[in-house]
Amino acid sequence: MKCPKCKSTNVKVQTINEVELKNDHHGILWWLFIGWWWVPVKWIHFTMLALIFKLFGRKKQKAVNRRRTVATCQNCGHSWNV
Ligand SMILES: [Zn+2]
Repeated sequence: MKCPKCKSTNVKVQTINEVELKNDHHGILWWLFIGWWWVPVKWIHFTMLALIFKLFGRKKQKAVNRRRTVATCQNCGHSWNV
């Protein structure tokens, strides 16, 4: 493998797993102004959508592969997806 930037062959290839961390912690103000109505509304919508999907939708499955291979040039530090 060659670096597209400096044409060096000193390239390290590694596979990394991307883990998406979601911060779901809301403050007291969020609960006072939004949380008390937003959470039930969200669940109603979620239930409705689930029902609609059950009635009309076929099972649509999307595989999300978050593993990607990244090559890093040891010469110039350039990294790119393989
Ligand atoms: Zn390079």
